[in-house]
Amino acid sequence: MEADIDKVNILLVDDKPERLLSYEAVLAQLGETLVKAHSGEEALRRLMETEFAVILLDVSMPGMDGFETAELIHQHPRFENTPIIFVTGVHIGDLDRLQGYRLGAIDYVQVPLVPDILRSKVAVLVELYRRRRALAGENANLTRVNLELQTERAQEFESLSRTLALANAELALANAQLEAEVAERRRAEAQLQQLAGKLRQADRRKDEFLATLAHELRNPLAPIRSAVSLLQSECSDAAAQLSLDVIDRQLRQLVRMVDDLLDVSRITHGRIELRREPTELGPLLSTAIETTLPHIQAMRHVLSVDLPPTALHVDGDPQRLTQVFGNLLNNASKYTLPGGRIGLSACIDGSEVLVRISDSGVGIPPERVDDVFDLFVQVDTSLERAQGGLGIGLTLVRRLVQMHGGSVRALSDGLGHGSCFEIRLPLSAAMTSASPIPGTTAATEIPVAPTPPAGRRILIVDDNRDAANMLAQLLGMSGHEVRAVYDPELALQTLVEFAPDLAFLDVGMPKLNGLELASMIRADPHGAHVVLVALTGWGQEDDRRRSRAAGFDHHLVKPADPVEIERICREAVPH
Ligand code: ADP
Repeated sequence: MEADIDKVNILLVDDKPERLLSYEAVLAQLGETLVKAHSGEEALRRLMETEFAVILLDVSMPGMDGFETAELIHQHPRFENTPIIFVTGVHIGDLDRLQGYRLGAIDYVQVPLVPDILRSKVAVLVELYRRRRALAGENANLTRVNLELQTERAQEFESLSRTLALANAELALANAQLEAEVAERRRAEAQLQQLAGKLRQADRRKDEFLATLAHELRNPLAPIRSAVSLLQSECSDAAAQLSLDVIDRQLRQLVRMVDDLLDVSRITHGRIELRREPTELGPLLSTAIETTLPHIQAMRHVLSVDLPPTALHVDGDPQRLTQVFGNLLNNASKYTLPGGRIGLSACIDGSEVLVRISDSGVGIPPERVDDVFDLFVQVDTSLERAQGGLGIGLTLVRRLVQMHGGSVRALSDGLGHGSCFEIRLPLSAAMTSASPIPGTTAATEIPVAPTPPAGRRILIVDDNRDAANMLAQLLGMSGHEVRAVYDPELALQTLVEFAPDLAFLDVGMPKLNGLELASMIRADPHGAHVVLVALTGWGQEDDRRRSRAAGFDHHLVKPADPVEIERICREAVPH
């Protein structure tokens, strides 16, 4: 029955064998498998064994008739759609026909059978069955393909999910690493900031230290300088005079270094103030030459000066500009082997004045010409180098020139080929006519203190006994009558007794400082006319303003120049 897979089964149900035979005969042509059943019960049994495309069912059978059989067949879920063709022997009424249809009948055929009709009816149903079966097959295929597709998708999805999860895990790891790195960087940054803070603090402390150091170094220099001046004027012994000259020169050098140190600390704090005024460069260059001439002469250098016949006017601070040119000349002399050449020239270049200070000295390596202006930079840092210095002179030069709206640069053809420093300053609008330009001869003239017209009565108040005594001796040597007081609280009493024309007061004294004392002297009728001179380590505009406000007539920064002291004494006009 199941041998031929393409054949379908047709169930023929009739209690009469001859009818079954005739059905067979009629339907054999269809080439399908015909299965016979002689009763309703047998038909049901056959249905349990296999599937049928169509059932030909005799209505009137003894026992279970066709309708009952059809009802039972269609109650079974597997056969509910199996088409049934009823065979009726007699003419059946519409009611029976209706009942048949209700029970699932597809069609009716009557006996005597018309073979063609039966065959075509069965063939149609067989064809329908085949199509349904093919459809079901395709459907199953589709379902399978669908299932496979779903499985494939699920697998793909799963593998994608796994890849994603893996990537996620890697990402999370990378993220954690990144976070750790960021945290590490933050820690490093915090440490760096802490370090920078410490460095700034150390730098501030260094600046404060430099300021204090310079200020403190100035104090002992003042009496030493007075003492040297005193000895120089008194001493007749040639050998001692020679030694004194050495001390004097070294002292000047020391004073210059201390001054530079103080200035540089002011520059770092932005506290240098210029006192600018219309200034002629000629006399100023002359003073710069004067101050460096002893060194130049000691080194046996040849100095040539080349200045234009016209006066060169700038809007500048004469003291600071002298310091700039003095510094550069001093360097030229310092960094040139004995017997070298030093040149100083000035000319107008557009709206600027160009000053050149050149030398035939040790020169500067090309890569260092810019950084020699940086603080503490020295080309030769070996301890055994011939020239001393702190490496701050050029820093001051550059800063001061810049503050004047000018510029400075160094030029050199390299080590052993000399150097040239070029300073450019804006010319002042008020350029005047020619004035005599001082030459080297004029510059070599060292000012000599003239004899005072008459001796003055001078009171000195300083808690530093050495400083007070030295100044007293110096002034006494010049023919003045001097009284020194070490305790400021005794000053007023001495003022009344001694009635001085001038009083030199140290500003930095314990108990009663010079400013307070000056105010008290001014408030006293005995002190109203006295010319008051402040002696202090501080020379800023602010300090000068404060001493003026306290009643001082003069403000001298230690170590005060003896020539300046003498000038004040000579020119003092009591109030
Ligand atoms: P210091 O002279 O105290 O060392 P400066 O700031 O004046 O400090 O100069 C910095 C450095 O520049 C010097 O140490 C020196 O190496 C170099 N320098 C300055 N002037 C000259 C010069 N005329 N010739 C050669 N080198 C110079």
